[in-house]
Amino acid sequence: MDMEQPDVRDHRLSRDEIEANFSDLHAPLSRSEALIAADRCYFCFDAPCTTACPTGIDIPGFIQKIRSDNIRGSAKTILSENIMGGMCARVCPTEVLCEEACVRNTHEEKPVEIGLLQRYATDPVIDAGTSLFPRAPATGRKIAVVGGGPAGLSCAHRLAVLGHEVVIFNRDDKLGGLNEYGIAAYKTVNDFAQTEVDYILSIGGIEVRNHCALGEDVSLDELRNEYDAVFLGIGLSKANEIGIEGEDRRGVINAIEYIAKLRQAEDKSTLPMGGTVVVIGGGMTAIDMAVQSRLLGAKQVHMVYRRGPEDMSASAFEQALAQTSGVTIHHRAPPNRILGDDFVTGVEFEDESGKFVLYADMVFKAIGQHTDGIEGLTLEHGRIIVNAGRMTSLEGVWAGGDCVVGGDDLTVSAVQHGKLAAIDIDRHLGGTQNG
Ligand SMILES: Cc1cc2nc3c(=O)[nH]c(=O)nc-3n(C[C@H](O)[C@H](O)[C@H](O)COP(=O)(O)OP(=O)(O)OC[C@H]3O[C@@H](n4cnc5c(N)ncnc54)[C@H](O)[C@@H]3O)c2cc1C
Ligand code: SF4
Repeated sequence: MDMEQPDVRDHRLSRDEIEANFSDLHAPLSRSEALIAADRCYFCFDAPCTTACPTGIDIPGFIQKIRSDNIRGSAKTILSENIMGGMCARVCPTEVLCEEACVRNTHEEKPVEIGLLQRYATDPVIDAGTSLFPRAPATGRKIAVVGGGPAGLSCAHRLAVLGHEVVIFNRDDKLGGLNEYGIAAYKTVNDFAQTEVDYILSIGGIEVRNHCALGEDVSLDELRNEYDAVFLGIGLSKANEIGIEGEDRRGVINAIEYIAKLRQAEDKSTLPMGGTVVVIGGGMTAIDMAVQSRLLGAKQVHMVYRRGPEDMSASAFEQALAQTSGVTIHHRAPPNRILGDDFVTGVEFEDESGKFVLYADMVFKAIGQHTDGIEGLTLEHGRIIVNAGRMTSLEGVWAGGDCVVGGDDLTVSAVQHGKLAAIDIDRHLGGTQNG
């Protein structure tokens, strides 16, 4: 990244200040706090929170076990539906999923703290590596899982539970996908993403080949010939371009690439950061980039979205988090052009009252990603078309997570896709244990 630009510096804040800024967003619950939170649950029949959970976790069931101090049983209830229940407890937008549906909202305008309770139940089991899932007898079947993000890992784990052998082919250096390279650092501290990956792999029967990319190191035809089934969980690895003048100026950076560097940095204070930053976009990546720019010491951060707040894919909670972190959000202002000579100096936008310029020494583009096309697969708007069992148009090939049509770009949904695909693959291979 370019460091010569005026007012773009590393060491904008000291290492200690940055460490403090990037500490855990929500402190974990103590035992007494968890018992009080669990006591607020009505244990509803046909619980709306469970219906609202994309992975269908039996939420009253796991909360009941917390009340009786059966933490292991509670974790098993969660992880049997969602093997990434630990990460989802940290990153799920619960305010628009389970907690929004909680009936306590109508009575007290405050839901049961389902996310924090889920973390309370799963953390001890994952930290200790407690094995909860025995593997079914070996089936002799071998499945290729392409992509080691939430979709791929969830699929691999369920297949392993069902007695199949799995090989994961993953482009990155590490497993975890965006859990490792994307999600905001303050949501998943202390290397939790890798702790969770280790927990998932501890089931056994899963071989990992990192640095191995479909389309470069191995072809889909080879995998289809060599394996009984193939699952694609390759995410959306290509950042979209805006397509306006000046986009190639120095200091105009893809947010997703910067965030990956931020997540891997040993010392975040060595990252270059502008004094005044403009983030273009309205989704989770834009919010995270804007908030993390502030945490790294940017004095002014503007986030600019071309539509209204109701169209933003970032939830109201995320938008409020950005605003309370000192980010100014502008709506209904598409960018016209990026200004500067060699270096960026600002962005010209246009809203209903006319053109205006926001000056900046760093500009981040966060307007979405698309998937790498895969030969032979039918795509719609750059994503793979799948059926309800997550089978693609190619025989023997399943897909899930962000790379498919209907993926809503949430970790929890990717986990569910991987799980459903594993169950469908097992069914197609003649398995009898479709759970
Ligand atoms: C900045 C950011 C913040 C986010 N924050 C949240 C959040 O707070 N909460 C939330 O629920 N969701 C969040 N999301 C969304 C969430 O991270 C994704 O929905 C989820 O990671 C999708 O999982 P996936 O397995 O489909 O893909 P990914 O996580 O993208 O994983 C894809 C994997 O495939 C591998 N791969 C790619 N191409 C190939 C290839 N050709 N061959 C082999 N391997 C390949 C990659 O190496 C990677 O490991 C965020 C996303 C971003 C970008
Ligand atoms: S909706 Fe709320 S009160 Fe009812 S079971 Fe779910 S968490 Fe408990």
